[in-house]
Amino acid sequence: MTIFKNALVQLKNAAEAAGLDPVVVEVLKHPKRILQVSVPVVMDDGAVKVFEGYRVQHNDARGPFKGGLRFHPKTDLDEVKALAFWMAIKCAVVNVPFGGGKGGVAVDPKKLSSGELERLSRAFIRAIAPVIGPDVDVPAPDMNTTPEIMAWMVDEYARVTGKFQPAVITGKPIAIGGSLGRTAATGRGGLFALEEWRRRANLKAKDLTIAVQGIGNVGFWFAKLAREAGYKVVAISDSKGGVYATAGINLDKALAYKKEHGNLKGFPADKEISNERLLELPVDVIVPAATENVLTDKNAGRVKARVVLELANGPTTPEADFKLAKKGITVIPDVLANSGGVAVSYFEWVQNRTGYYMTEAEVNDKLKKLMVEAFYDVAGLATDKSLTLRTAAFALAVRRIAEAQQARGWR
Ligand code: GLU
Repeated sequence: MTIFKNALVQLKNAAEAAGLDPVVVEVLKHPKRILQVSVPVVMDDGAVKVFEGYRVQHNDARGPFKGGLRFHPKTDLDEVKALAFWMAIKCAVVNVPFGGGKGGVAVDPKKLSSGELERLSRAFIRAIAPVIGPDVDVPAPDMNTTPEIMAWMVDEYARVTGKFQPAVITGKPIAIGGSLGRTAATGRGGLFALEEWRRRANLKAKDLTIAVQGIGNVGFWFAKLAREAGYKVVAISDSKGGVYATAGINLDKALAYKKEHGNLKGFPADKEISNERLLELPVDVIVPAATENVLTDKNAGRVKARVVLELANGPTTPEADFKLAKKGITVIPDVLANSGGVAVSYFEWVQNRTGYYMTEAEVNDKLKKLMVEAFYDVAGLATDKSLTLRTAAFALAVRRIAEAQQARGWR
């Protein structure tokens, strides 16, 4: 099964369970536009290397295409198609006026010098410049892409178009129109979603243990804020492996250690743990915050947590979803759980277009409102129709997209 096929199974499940309009479902099975580009970069040694890049624009019924750009060696068209589709669903779930898109370059950015990375970022945005714009398609950071990279891209876009237009890209540094609160937004939004689940389940934060797979930007902020909110974060990992400490892990210390040593190996804890085992720990909440397809048919049966909070995109295959549901494990799906990032991207875009800049408290407050509303819209539908949260989220999103399509006369 490819990742895009997994995404289509999720759509099919929702269409069957919630009786969705077959025409809209058919439209949503296909990306509206796919752009594949070659990105030549002059390397530091003078040689030219050509990288493959993509921008997939899935659906824009509700507003401009929206979604990040990732730099990863495994990035390919299939993955970007799935991610673009999930963005369309996600933006509708969290109810921001965007459609869905995604892009990426097949590259290992860790192997590039800073100069090479900048030339690649600029060359890629030049290549996709004809199909993006503040009212057309608005990229953002994703895996291995940072505010600094967004700044190079905004600058390059200004050179191509002759006009500085910060609203073309979100996730920028504050100095050029980034939003306060954007960096922590995906993690913070994930915590708001978990808090709503916890309140409904009548549990106390201090009684709940959490394991986070992947402490990149999203996983780190989630873990840090969850700890501050009283949860016990007992395991974390990076791509090289993780650590487990029953007394809890101090995230600031872990981050400082990772900065100094490159990874978490040797960080003081009860024991080292692999990324696979981390998901099987006897904790209350597991948080896949790294990459796709980490919960599959093979390991879903070994999950002991009560809740899976998906901060990565696409961490659970449809087969795993089925098994987890059968075991009574709640999955708070990616399209809801990690939608805080694009929610604050929306606030950034609004601030760029109006020229009025919000305080961090205002941003966080508005983020909370959107997350809580999205959670209740999804959970309400799930309860009414006896659906999983994922199927309910897809059903809700497809209905919202259908409404926009109908209003525009697309059918
Ligand atoms: N890359 C993030 C995501 O997968 C954020 C996208 C955005 O802000 O446009 O949701």
